[in-house]
Amino acid sequence: MWRLHLWAGYCSSLTRDAALERGWVVNESEGFVMKKVLIVDDSITVARQLQRIIEGSGDFQVVGHAKNGAEGIKLNQSEDPDIICMDMNMPVMDGLTALRSISVIDPKVTVVMVTSLGGVGDKFTEAMKLGARNVISKPFEEETVLEILRSL
Ligand SMILES: [Mg+2]
Repeated sequence: MWRLHLWAGYCSSLTRDAALERGWVVNESEGFVMKKVLIVDDSITVARQLQRIIEGSGDFQVVGHAKNGAEGIKLNQSEDPDIICMDMNMPVMDGLTALRSISVIDPKVTVVMVTSLGGVGDKFTEAMKLGARNVISKPFEEETVLEILRSL
């Protein structure tokens, strides 16, 4: 009996480790589930590229696409994502302004900036101060995007 018990424990810990390694999260009712990602970017091309990479990984689900910061704030409230991929430059409301609001309204959501500025400059420094966790530089490679998302 103890052997069976040990074996069951071994299997469940393997599954748990594998799930955690892939960046899944524990949901009380459903067990391990994929993290939900919201894309906020005014470029349809960039948003589609990101969506293809993120969903193609099989480890994340995209729950929405907002075309500016204001839409991003609304979708963050309705879709409750774990991660937001936030463009910096957008019409109506830019990424920094949206980040500033979201960091107050919903401090538990993880925000990653998506920008051609790379990890330098005043805007990048400001984003980090406001709680952005990382930056995806444009143009991006599939591997880099997934590496960053899995590290969150
Ligand atoms: Mg833009």
